[in-house]
Amino acid sequence: MRVRFWGTRGSIAAPGPDTVRFGGNTSCVEVTTSGGGCFMFDCGTGARALGAKLVAHAPKPISATILLSHTHWDHIQGFPFFAPLFIPGTRITVCGPEGSGRSLREVLSGQMEFTYFPVEISQLPATITFQELGEGTYEIGGARIVAQYLHHPAMTLGYRVEADGAAVVYACDHEPFSEMLWHDNPALSRAESIVHEGDRRHARFMAGADTVIHDAQYTPEESPSKKNWGHSTYEYAVGLAAAAGVRQLVLTHHDPTHGDAFVEEIEARARGYVADLGYDVQVCCAYEGLELTLEPHGVRHLAGAPVAPHSGRDALRGRHILVVDDDPDIRALANHALRQDGHIVIEASGGREALALIDTQPPDLLLLDLLMPDPGGLEVLKILRSRPATAALPIVVLTALDDEVNTRSGFELGATDYLTKPFSIPQLAARVRACLARTGLEFAVDQGPIVAPGDPD
Ligand SMILES: [Zn+2]
Ligand SMILES: [Zn+2]
Repeated sequence: MRVRFWGTRGSIAAPGPDTVRFGGNTSCVEVTTSGGGCFMFDCGTGARALGAKLVAHAPKPISATILLSHTHWDHIQGFPFFAPLFIPGTRITVCGPEGSGRSLREVLSGQMEFTYFPVEISQLPATITFQELGEGTYEIGGARIVAQYLHHPAMTLGYRVEADGAAVVYACDHEPFSEMLWHDNPALSRAESIVHEGDRRHARFMAGADTVIHDAQYTPEESPSKKNWGHSTYEYAVGLAAAAGVRQLVLTHHDPTHGDAFVEEIEARARGYVADLGYDVQVCCAYEGLELTLEPHGVRHLAGAPVAPHSGRDALRGRHILVVDDDPDIRALANHALRQDGHIVIEASGGREALALIDTQPPDLLLLDLLMPDPGGLEVLKILRSRPATAALPIVVLTALDDEVNTRSGFELGATDYLTKPFSIPQLAARVRACLARTGLEFAVDQGPIVAPGDPD
């Protein structure tokens, strides 16, 4: 399997003398397999040059699969300029996350409406197929592709492509689920000591990959003022990659304000961090033109990945959601976020009222505050998990308590997800959609340890 970077910038293209080395184009990575499969992670402005190369050199008719992480501008703006779309006979499959208010085709058509672009999507000569994906495992273009939701203020998928005895993971845009990554317990291994189940799931997703391409838009100093913007630091990416037994980590989605000297410094700091911690991970910052060849290492299949879901977008809308919080502002915010997604929202201002409501109007999902007058959120969680009818109800804890003890208690008592305040409306909406989408998924091995696939034992 071969990987080539065509766009490494996040947020917006940033061409100019300061970005010559790492590149100014937004996210686009080409992956080719020995069987002739051509995949693209995202379709930012880097897709223009990739398209030109395919037109000049690829066997005709051109066939490619675009794996969109999400549809923020920096991941789709190269699409109207992707030259193969203008050639009859070209076959392009566009895959991306289901679950936004509109279909993938509608969203991509939107940026090509007459107001924005002279050619409408329906006028393109290529055959374009759209495939909306949920979290799961797919066979696409001769490769095994595992998709998993990331933490971003939009429905966003990370992809793991397994082919030719190698595995590459692409995870942009993604923010740590918890501010605090590790339990403060030296007896635990790195993998075991990940505090938040979301970060642990993210590490499992990378397990044993040959190469992980990861968002590292902000430095640790910048990150506190960018909370909830949906991006990572090199420290987070290095820590999880090491815990997951990844061989090589490529940091990307560089901030548009970071010039070459700054990105070089990030690369040096990331390498220093790897060395200080004694990890065995090669790390570099992605630049346009970077080419990697992934050698076969045997089967690299991720164990325990869920099979592809059958449900579509509609399954994520119109659900009954109970919001339990004693703060009317939080209830109003959650109500607004969820109604936008077509959900039916019921509110309760305390634990007792919530338990009574659950008996009479069973919800499809519960948003639960922790700090409430008796019974508090953890007590309500305990009661609900002890009852057969609500043992598997998706429960998202909403809380200002982001310390280790409370996060751990929340998950130990059976929280499905743990979202800390303050949160943004798109962030809450995406977390709820991810929880609903996971409900009922068939997992071969759920909640398992982080095991590198293909290792001897
Ligand atoms: Zn982005
Ligand atoms: Zn984004």
